[in-house]
Amino acid sequence: GELSSVELTQTYLDRIEQSNHNAFISTNTELALTAAKAADQRRADGDTNPLLGIPVAQKDIFCIEGMLTTCGSRILENFVAPYTATVVEKMHAHGLVTLGKANMDEFAMGSSNENSFFGGVANPWSAEEETLVPGGSSGGSAAAVAAHLAPAATGTDTGGSIRQPAAFCNLTGVKPTYGRCSRFGMIAFASSLDQAGPMTHTAEDAALLLNTMAGFDHRDATSLEVEAEDFTRSLDDSLAGIVIGVPKEFFSDGLDNEVATIIDAAIKQYQSLGAKIKEVSLPNSHLALPSYYVIAPAEASSNLSRFDGVRYGFRADEYTDLVDMYTKTRTQGFGDEVKRRIMIGTYALSSGYYDAYYAKAQKLRRLISNDFVAVFKDCDVLMGPTTPSPAFAAGTGGEDPVAMYMNDIYTIPANLAGLPAASIPAGFTQAGLPVGLHLIAPALQEAKMLNIAHQYQ
Ligand code: GLN
Repeated sequence: GELSSVELTQTYLDRIEQSNHNAFISTNTELALTAAKAADQRRADGDTNPLLGIPVAQKDIFCIEGMLTTCGSRILENFVAPYTATVVEKMHAHGLVTLGKANMDEFAMGSSNENSFFGGVANPWSAEEETLVPGGSSGGSAAAVAAHLAPAATGTDTGGSIRQPAAFCNLTGVKPTYGRCSRFGMIAFASSLDQAGPMTHTAEDAALLLNTMAGFDHRDATSLEVEAEDFTRSLDDSLAGIVIGVPKEFFSDGLDNEVATIIDAAIKQYQSLGAKIKEVSLPNSHLALPSYYVIAPAEASSNLSRFDGVRYGFRADEYTDLVDMYTKTRTQGFGDEVKRRIMIGTYALSSGYYDAYYAKAQKLRRLISNDFVAVFKDCDVLMGPTTPSPAFAAGTGGEDPVAMYMNDIYTIPANLAGLPAASIPAGFTQAGLPVGLHLIAPALQEAKMLNIAHQYQ
């Protein structure tokens, strides 16, 4: 007979229990099985929703009522959320079953998941001799799906945190148009860049999940008021005549040769599906990383000021007065990378430096956006590599933060411009490591982007 949601959910919970990837920060068996039972009842009552009863992993950045919500940080080590993020609420309304909270870099800052207070995550594609990182910051989500500990997961992407781990773990990861998915209840990193999205094996699964996640929410001031749409509607459309732009800047010096070869072949593959390939230029893309590393820390320094030991989670044990309590709580509660971002951001926003850094970065952001407007006049989608290299070994990025920042050199421009983008499995290196093909589409063209992703073979 057909597998019930309770059986399916229990199977995944058992797998999570037995796995040693450290992909989850917490699970909640009772909540999961209660939701699964309710889904089975809805099924028995005739509900035909295709996602009804399907288990899913949630990045631990989403507040879920009654569940531990840590954001990968010691400062929220014991925080149980009193309400549920809109995106998760919508998924639950469709009958999806939350298995648990996926590991992540602290406050979503990082590209290897090694900044998590709860420890690193093993990439399921690691060889026996060497543990590779799953990417980050949504590293737990990616590892969970790749290791079949969950059929799908949510992630968030501020500068690449859905797409880079998807590339490292051979998954489809979609960062929707900024404002497509509500940020309500999603712990803020850089509010003008943060977007939630699905991490799945296939483009079809991503489209189904995005159907449940997307939609206007009055509780998020930057939520887009657009008509609901079915992102699966054009998956099977022909690609005959579409124009794929290939920005030459995405094949820069730092790009691994093998990755370049695989991406070239993937793009050629689209030619055989009827697409036209056009070399284009995004002349300001070299400004994306410096602009991002002013804007994101600036917004983070402001967002993270709410973690003061008074209202949320962790508070230092011993202190003399209020200011000492703040200082000790934040000193002990935040990890090194988070502190680095708070310091950079506070500096960039301070009087006397604001115009030189923050205002300047905003101007660069506009130039980067304008580059996309220009190329999308005669391209349907842009393609390139998602990352400059495949997954790297754990413990190798630690000393040099800027080397870690380079992971997102191709993904950050889409965040700055608010555009939808995706990483899809493109092929494997000689050593058997997955490589991701990066797609960037015009605003609100997720359905077309998923069509293009779905047609890849
Ligand atoms: N790796 C980038 C950073 O550390 C992007 C993170 C993200 O998208 N959340 O800021």
